[in-house]
Amino acid sequence: MTVKRLNKEDRLRKLNARIPVSLIREEEALEKKLRKPKLSPLNGLEMIYGVLDLHMQYTKGLTACSKGCDFCCHMEVAVSRLEADFIAAKTGYKPSVNGPSLALSNSKQYCDEKKPCPFLDQIGKICSIYVYRPMMCRTHLSFEESNTPCRFDAPKDSPITLLDRAKSWPSALRGYFLLIERHGGGWADIRDYFGKWAS
Ligand code: SF4
Repeated sequence: MTVKRLNKEDRLRKLNARIPVSLIREEEALEKKLRKPKLSPLNGLEMIYGVLDLHMQYTKGLTACSKGCDFCCHMEVAVSRLEADFIAAKTGYKPSVNGPSLALSNSKQYCDEKKPCPFLDQIGKICSIYVYRPMMCRTHLSFEESNTPCRFDAPKDSPITLLDRAKSWPSALRGYFLLIERHGGGWADIRDYFGKWAS
């Protein structure tokens, strides 16, 4: 019997089909909680990360991402003030107050082998703040068959099919933007906030 190999669009579809209704309901209930004005944005963000961790189990076998692949840690990593404050609260690293500088809609993504994220452990090629990493890192998932396009020597225009956050995890994403707005926005590249771990 021939086993049909899934292409990247099939893999994305398969992810959406795998997500159980119970988790979709949980995500919707979370969005309602996040809308309560008394909820601390930092606590809300932690709740979102908890639900996303549950989602992650359904990506198993569908993405090209794996431990030790650090390509996307050399890209621009857009972080809000809320996420910077969350990392600070959990790790003790203090973000630069001059961080906010990124106009998200106008930003041109870059990838520079010489400009890794300050939290990348370059020896082990792992994230040193993995549990507290920002949304951009949690949801930057490649649905390519392998990580070949995510190599510094890959052709610059290699298309990479990424998770469609709004399609797969819509309520979590809406809640995330809501909290960020409530916390004052403040987008910057992670290097602007935590270059050499700032202080
Ligand atoms: S926070 Fe962690 S996962 Fe995100 S870019 Fe930095 S090292 Fe990579």
